[in-house]
Amino acid sequence: MASELEPEVQGLDRTFLECSAEETAGKWLQATDLTREVYQHLAHYVPRIYCRGPNPFPQKEDMLAQHVLLGPMEWYLCGEDPEFGFPKLEQANKPSHLCGRVFKVGEPTYSCRDCAVDPTCVLCMECFLGSIHRDHRYRMTTSGGGGFCDCGDTEAWKEGPYCQKHELNTSEIEEEEDPLVRLSEDVIARTYNIFAIMFRYAVEILTWEKENELPADLKMVEKSDTYYCMLFNDEVHTYEQVIYTLQKAVNCTQKEAIGFATTVDRDGRRSVRYGDFQYCEQAKSVIVRNTSRQTKPLKVQVMHSSLVAHQNFGLKLLSWLGSIIGYSDGLRRILCQVGLQEGPDGENSSLVDRLMLSDSKLWKGARSVYHQLFMSSLLMDLKYKKLFAVRFAKNYERLQSDYVTDDHDREFSVADLSVQIFTVPSLARMLITEENLMTIIIKTFMDHLRHRDGQGRFQFERYTALQAFKFRRVQSLILDLKYVLISRPAVWSDELRHKFLEGFDAFLELLKCMQGMDPITRQVGQHIEMEPEWEAAFTLQMKLTHIISMVQDWCASDEKVLIEAYKKCLGVLMQCHGGFTDGEQPITLSICGHSVETIRYCVSQEKVSIHLPVSRLLAGLHVLLSRSEVAYKFPELLPLSELSPPMLIEHPLRCLVLCAQVHAGMWRRNGFSLVNQIYYYHNVKCRREMFDKDIMMLQTGVSMMDPNHFLMIMLSRFELYQIFSTPDYGKRFSSEITHKDVIQQNNTLIEEMLYLIIMLVGERFIPGVGQVNATEEIKREIIHQLSIKPMAHSELVKSLPEDENKETGMENVIETVAHFKKPGLTGRGMYELKPECAKEFNLYFYHFSRAEQSKAEEAQRKLRRQNREDTALPPPVLPPFCPLFASLVNILQSDVMLCIMGTILQWAVEHNGYAWSESMLQRVLHLIGMALQEEKQHLENAMEEHVVTFTFTQKISKPGEAPNNSPSILAMLETLQNAPYLEVHKDMIRWILKTFNAIKKIRESSPTSPVAETEGTIMEESSRDKDKAERKRKAEIARLRREKIMAQMSEMQRHFIDENKELFQQTLELDGSSSAVLDSGPVVSGTTFTALGPAQTQVSEHRQFVTCILCQEEQEVKVESKAMVLAAFVQRSTVLSKNRSKFIQDPEKYDPLFMHPDLSCGTHTGSCGHIMHAHCWQRYFDSVQNKEQRRQQRLRLHMSYDVENGEFLCPLCECLSNTVIPLLLPPRNIFSSRLNFSDQPNLTQWIRIISQQIKALQSLRKEENASIPASSENSKNMEEVELPQGFRPDFHPQNPYSENIKEMLTTFGTATYKVGLKVHPNEEDPRVPIMCWGSCAYTIQSIERILSDEDKPLFGPLPCRLDDCLRSLTRFAAAHWTVASLLVVQRHFCKLFASLVPNDSHDDVPCILDIDMFHLLVSLVLAFPALQCQDFSGISLGTGDLHIFHLVTMAHIVQILLTSCTEENGMDQENLTGEEELATLTLYKILHQCTGSALKEIPSGWHLWRSVRAGIMPFLKCSALFFHYLNGVPAPSDIQVSGASHFEHLCNYLSLPTNLICLFQENSEIMNSLIESWCRNNEVKQYLEGERDAVSYPRESNKLIDLPEDYSSLINQASNFSCPKSGGDKSRAPTLCLVCGTLLCSQSYCCQTELEGEDVGACTAHTYSCGSGAGIFLRVRECQVLFLAGKTKGCFYSPPYLDDYGETDQGLRRGNPLHLCRDRFKKIQKLWHQHSITEEIGHAQEANQTLVGIDWQHL
Ligand SMILES: [Zn+2]
Ligand SMILES: [Zn+2]
Ligand SMILES: [Zn+2]
Ligand SMILES: [Zn+2]
Ligand SMILES: [Zn+2]
Ligand SMILES: [Zn+2]
Ligand SMILES: [Zn+2]
Repeated sequence: MASELEPEVQGLDRTFLECSAEETAGKWLQATDLTREVYQHLAHYVPRIYCRGPNPFPQKEDMLAQHVLLGPMEWYLCGEDPEFGFPKLEQANKPSHLCGRVFKVGEPTYSCRDCAVDPTCVLCMECFLGSIHRDHRYRMTTSGGGGFCDCGDTEAWKEGPYCQKHELNTSEIEEEEDPLVRLSEDVIARTYNIFAIMFRYAVEILTWEKENELPADLKMVEKSDTYYCMLFNDEVHTYEQVIYTLQKAVNCTQKEAIGFATTVDRDGRRSVRYGDFQYCEQAKSVIVRNTSRQTKPLKVQVMHSSLVAHQNFGLKLLSWLGSIIGYSDGLRRILCQVGLQEGPDGENSSLVDRLMLSDSKLWKGARSVYHQLFMSSLLMDLKYKKLFAVRFAKNYERLQSDYVTDDHDREFSVADLSVQIFTVPSLARMLITEENLMTIIIKTFMDHLRHRDGQGRFQFERYTALQAFKFRRVQSLILDLKYVLISRPAVWSDELRHKFLEGFDAFLELLKCMQGMDPITRQVGQHIEMEPEWEAAFTLQMKLTHIISMVQDWCASDEKVLIEAYKKCLGVLMQCHGGFTDGEQPITLSICGHSVETIRYCVSQEKVSIHLPVSRLLAGLHVLLSRSEVAYKFPELLPLSELSPPMLIEHPLRCLVLCAQVHAGMWRRNGFSLVNQIYYYHNVKCRREMFDKDIMMLQTGVSMMDPNHFLMIMLSRFELYQIFSTPDYGKRFSSEITHKDVIQQNNTLIEEMLYLIIMLVGERFIPGVGQVNATEEIKREIIHQLSIKPMAHSELVKSLPEDENKETGMENVIETVAHFKKPGLTGRGMYELKPECAKEFNLYFYHFSRAEQSKAEEAQRKLRRQNREDTALPPPVLPPFCPLFASLVNILQSDVMLCIMGTILQWAVEHNGYAWSESMLQRVLHLIGMALQEEKQHLENAMEEHVVTFTFTQKISKPGEAPNNSPSILAMLETLQNAPYLEVHKDMIRWILKTFNAIKKIRESSPTSPVAETEGTIMEESSRDKDKAERKRKAEIARLRREKIMAQMSEMQRHFIDENKELFQQTLELDGSSSAVLDSGPVVSGTTFTALGPAQTQVSEHRQFVTCILCQEEQEVKVESKAMVLAAFVQRSTVLSKNRSKFIQDPEKYDPLFMHPDLSCGTHTGSCGHIMHAHCWQRYFDSVQNKEQRRQQRLRLHMSYDVENGEFLCPLCECLSNTVIPLLLPPRNIFSSRLNFSDQPNLTQWIRIISQQIKALQSLRKEENASIPASSENSKNMEEVELPQGFRPDFHPQNPYSENIKEMLTTFGTATYKVGLKVHPNEEDPRVPIMCWGSCAYTIQSIERILSDEDKPLFGPLPCRLDDCLRSLTRFAAAHWTVASLLVVQRHFCKLFASLVPNDSHDDVPCILDIDMFHLLVSLVLAFPALQCQDFSGISLGTGDLHIFHLVTMAHIVQILLTSCTEENGMDQENLTGEEELATLTLYKILHQCTGSALKEIPSGWHLWRSVRAGIMPFLKCSALFFHYLNGVPAPSDIQVSGASHFEHLCNYLSLPTNLICLFQENSEIMNSLIESWCRNNEVKQYLEGERDAVSYPRESNKLIDLPEDYSSLINQASNFSCPKSGGDKSRAPTLCLVCGTLLCSQSYCCQTELEGEDVGACTAHTYSCGSGAGIFLRVRECQVLFLAGKTKGCFYSPPYLDDYGETDQGLRRGNPLHLCRDRFKKIQKLWHQHSITEEIGHAQEANQTLVGIDWQHL
């Protein structure tokens, strides 16, 4: 190692080694001026250790620093060898009960929703698992880095503050003990000395601002000319810009540039050049020039190397301090003391202050190092935490301003420590009272928002990008305010009251600047030219929402504060109100003998603003007052008399009118910004402090004034006063004005106004407004959400307002109002409303959007119809109002209200020619219903002596007075009851009349109530009942008819779907329900079928007719006809691979002839089973290609399929395909015409004959080769070529297929070759036939695996597409040799054959351990016809098949026996009764001999036979499938059912003896020599000697990796994972390969690699080795499954983790605990096994085009 370094460095090393830590420390102990002594040491050594060249050597530097620099300090501190000193300190220490673990990026953190004081209180995984909270409701998040575990902090937890581990130390903590008492005086003194010097040194050097000079006491004697060009991070320039600039400036490769950029981004700075000053200066100027065009340039400094060296050591020193104080709390305290000690320059001169105040000047890396030190020192020491908090608060304004002007993210700013300090309730309270923190925060915040309009309100209109950026940063101050307020004080001191109210004043100042901001004026005539800026104001409102609520909570906890705050708020509101300039001239309104004065103001003509936070705060405080005791006991203490109700309601009313007008379409020309504002005003995120409070304010107003006055003012603001104040105005109005829009507009306004009245009376579920508690409020919200439809947990949560702790309070009540329905394999768990809650449904619930309202109405009516109830949706019974609001109900029986109701009913009665709407009527009916409910309640709850003053029934029974003489409301209702045009509302009217009568009865029976005089207008009960019954009967008939029609319709629909289901079925479901059929089914029952050999069962293949999906013509499948093809998708596969490290390195040289038993890379063929004419397909494909070319020229659109690679979508089912397979008849029948059943050779004879034929062929070929160079060497052989009997090598058979079919054979063959090997298509390549056979074998094997894994019978009902695919694929592979070169196929056969029957000219064949026998079987059988066709001796093809099969089977048995590692457990082994067992044992003995006893000693025959049987099953099953499809022999019915292993049936079907070993015995003559030749192989020997591995049988199915039950352990695992390329850096997107379990650093520059000339991310690169291009991943941070295929295709898939509510959490946004759902995971595994990943991606991309645009290759 040392030899590689320059000699100078070597020399240095020696001097370092001579420097003894002990001696140096000794010298220091004697020193009189320790500081000077230490500084000299540092000045001498630091530049010699650090920064010796262009690149850092961290390991070497650290090693030397430890030895020369830190070692002496440790010696000095301990006064002895630190190896003994530190453990002593550690032992003496009484460790803290705080955990304080600092979180890494991505580490899981847990917060208990039941016990955490606020959501910022979190536990590390270890503490969480050892705490009581693991059984509570908790939330899990991944840390963004920074922050620490709060275990042990009693202020953070309401319960269980300690985990088991940290609880141990709590028993003795009674009082805060000074940790210094556990240290000796000496140690204290020395520690103090050394800490003071080192900490000062670090701070000094890190905050040093000169680039070319060192502090005086560190100056070096000689100064070298070595500099660094240091590049600093900023958040303005992109990665790409930096990389590009660096390549230019310092002339480096792109890779180096990426490296620099990555380090700059991570550490905040990196030297990009090392050399003399000029050299560095030059690079600097290029960088600055290149990056200064649009923005401010990148920061670059040319720094002297010794300065950089000292800075690097400074950082090292801070980390060292951090670790040293870990030994003892006493040391930590000393460090805190040193840090906070005021320096010579007074205020702000302590080291801690100096660091904090230069925070924004430091680079990222330096910041995080000292932040970490602060966290592990100052924040862990309770005494100094307080002192630090004070320093932090004192500097607050400065720190925040620094942060706002800086461009780094908040997590890299010291300002971010606020969360650690302010969330501690005791500290927060202390800072409020002692440092006036609340006021400081608010004032600082306002200082940064300087843009104001003439009235001093915030103005966001013309915000520049820079201001917007700043505004975003300023918002973090609101967060600080939230932290400070997050826990309410239980006890108030006078000082706290005083300071809080001072803060409240500041807060009111802030709100005042918002009151009336962004005012708008209705645009008439032209559409607005530019959408005004509105988002900033709303952002501010949204951010403040929780603060406003919290301020109210604080006020509510102390009556004195509440009353004071109320007064202050009212004062500010009056100031604001005075500021408005409108309403100078009062006008007088009068209706029904009531009159009121108001100002002249029109929302549609004058300025109006949505932002009224002061009014709304007052409304909130008013409601709180209403809840307080003082409101009952000493109402005179309340400042209510100062209130002017008209003033209070004015602005909220305007705002609500604005909404109504927008809805009525009057503000259309004001554009979308207004629509958006209205949307947010009602939205769940804002409404609590906007819309809801406006309603409250109006409720407050109405309850304090004459309701008639209120209604008139309201009419006037809605601009409807004219219509209702002038009798017949409506009539005139609608006849005069033909403008339909205006009528429509007014109708909507009337509807909206009625809706508002309904809300004012009906919304009493806020504690303080009505007599309810908070639970009832949330219950009601849930009931109404679930009235719309059943909802998933997350959906429901989203529709409910969250408090500052992100809680909705839903979990506490959901059980009482809803049932939970568990999810299935897809979808989510759902909550359904309990039926008994339906009666609480209010159609006019104020939080419904219009769409929700109509959906809910529909759903509720449907429900009632189903329950055979009438469909009226009457208003629910409401809780009573609180006393302060009690008079509000009178609005319902006020004269103006009755007038409005009467007018509208009159319109409805007169119906024709009047402008009115059904909604209007519906609302009036609802209001009448509410009034009746109210009266009924009053009567029922009235005390004996009380007179019920609510007499609505009386009032509506009276007819109108002169001059109107209108009928009474009741009379009109009765008229309307029979109106044919009001069918929908009849049930409601009937309900009203019924309730009316019920109330009448109560009144009559109660003596105290004033008797209502009935005025004979009520119809005779009997006649009405009769009428009612008749109508009901008719309605019932109509309903039944409707239902029948609906039922018929849905039946038809269902049929349609059923019929087409098969057609569109995408995933191959292998369950028994699938309706596919096999070939011809059992022909004759009871017959045993034989699939191959001379005894093969002859089945007459019936003629097959198929229909082309493109031209719909029918066509018979024949040898000589036009080709029919199936759409197919060929892909490489590693699904069966047993060795993922192996992949095809060089496809051009790769020889696929023998498949290795590890099946490491196969070629899979799948098909959707849709059949086309070959020419129809060709035409279709050409058109796709043309279209695509045109499209690409036009716009660069991505497609879900890659046309250039031959991909297309099946024209019928859109399944991804890349080639077609021809449809063929069983090819063997075509060539078996020369069948001759005379005696056929046995295996031994056959092998001899074939060997001779091979020999002859080889000689011929040699002869051919040799004849050209005319060499004499082989001439002797030439003579010897003696052709076996009947063998005619010159014979070339005719190809029976039509040209068209031949063409398709070539097409598919070439496609398989191209995809399988990833090479350019070449139909001449000799490997084409091999790839075809391989794909056939591999596909059969993969299907056999699926069937076995799912315990499905081999020949059970396969889905059509699978059956068609396997049949076509097998027959194609069997016919392919006819289009290949005969010579090539023969050569393949010879070589394949030589692997079992040795042959002199083939010594390069693999040993039998390295051959997959099924692949060998398929290739041999399918290549054999090429040899057999020249044989005229009468040996049939069938005989050959049979012998090949037997031979391969025997080889496989030997293979199994050689590799079976039977565990010797002595049991049952004496039971050698079975014939099979004895035979196996005998065979094993032979093997034992042949291997020269290298094979293990003879185990029990029982075990051997068992392993043979188990090992060979997959092979037999595959073979059965293969011969079944090859020869078309139906499967025996026994194998078609699942259950038993079918070993005997399989043997029969395959012409095998059930005692497989008999095969050896029958052919012992040749087999013994073959076995010997197999065992003699060197590889076999090596294996048996343990020098190499081999696959053993049966091969187990591959599974996706095991996933943990609890998702957080995955997060934890991923958080410990660091990027493999950038030295210990945490990966940002750790991604888990579900196939092999590798963790990858995805979606990041650091781990990009080059693949086929393109930069790809870690996932894509991994798929190429692990999955042959396809991959299944879990993105751990996102909790999202990722499917990748090729470089361009990918999609996200729902993860197999569900929370307790049966939902996934993609993106981990909700943080509910997640658990593995095994069924869903199995489903993913199934997709993988079925090779459906690519298909799944295709479908996902077709369904969602945005997926196509993602750069999947960068993941
Ligand atoms: Zn912890
Ligand atoms: Zn703990
Ligand atoms: Zn808990
Ligand atoms: Zn066709
Ligand atoms: Zn299809
Ligand atoms: Zn993998
Ligand atoms: Zn990486």
